[in-house]
Amino acid sequence: MPELPEVEAVVRTLRPLVQGRKIRCVHVPHPIATKPQDPAQVARQAQGRRIRIVDRQGKYVLLVLDRGLLTMHLRLDGRLLWFANGKELRERANQGGNGVHVDVALELDQGVLGFADRRHFGRLHVWESVDDCPGLSVLGIDALSREFTSHRFAAMLSASKRPLKDFLLDQSRVAGIGNIYSCESLWQARLDPRRRANTLKPREVRRLHKAIVSVLARALECCLHPAPNFRDPEWWFQGLERILRAYRREGRSCRRCGEPIRRIAQGGRSTYWCRRCQQ
Ligand SMILES: [Zn+2]
Repeated sequence: MPELPEVEAVVRTLRPLVQGRKIRCVHVPHPIATKPQDPAQVARQAQGRRIRIVDRQGKYVLLVLDRGLLTMHLRLDGRLLWFANGKELRERANQGGNGVHVDVALELDQGVLGFADRRHFGRLHVWESVDDCPGLSVLGIDALSREFTSHRFAAMLSASKRPLKDFLLDQSRVAGIGNIYSCESLWQARLDPRRRANTLKPREVRRLHKAIVSVLARALECCLHPAPNFRDPEWWFQGLERILRAYRREGRSCRRCGEPIRRIAQGGRSTYWCRRCQQ
């Protein structure tokens, strides 16, 4: 599931392709992708608009238009595709066996941006303003932003009794961290994922803050080399498993102390951690 580094890499790759471009026409071959918004309404609102800014907030991709904004959330397996023009889109998209799955296509004044999620969890929506998008308006501080300081992080932690793992997954506090990078950050910071957020000592808070920032930066670097390839519908991020120290390493030796990495369920999801060196 794409988290902050993956989405940031997608946004950086997308920006030079679409920023400043005009949306000429919106095609919605699979209306589930705009649910609960009406696909005809989405098309009407986006058509004729110019893409002013390409941005990211938490795990959302944002296209700020000259009026309103368009959001894309990749959920589990969503991805972006790029077609040279409308002709190529019609030839390649949704043509059965060899076709490329496309849920929504934005035909621009140059090129076509496709949004696709074969499992149909991903969503593309259009809004009048940020305040109208419920998912965006509740987001906390973005983990890659300057506002995410050790000081503010300490204040948020001290106000919560939740286990650290659950705290890190809560997008309304720190936005952008999911299951993978919460496990990795806690491993890096040598902290037990079951610890209550408000029990951290100041030096532990600083260690966790530093770990989050460095884990995300390393993952982003990995996600950008090689950069996402929107021309290849099968493309996905490569090499991330090389930088992982805990996530999905159950039974394998901890790189720090040699103890086998364990897996436990927390909030219905798997947490991977080292019982010996995460306290
Ligand atoms: Zn260990």
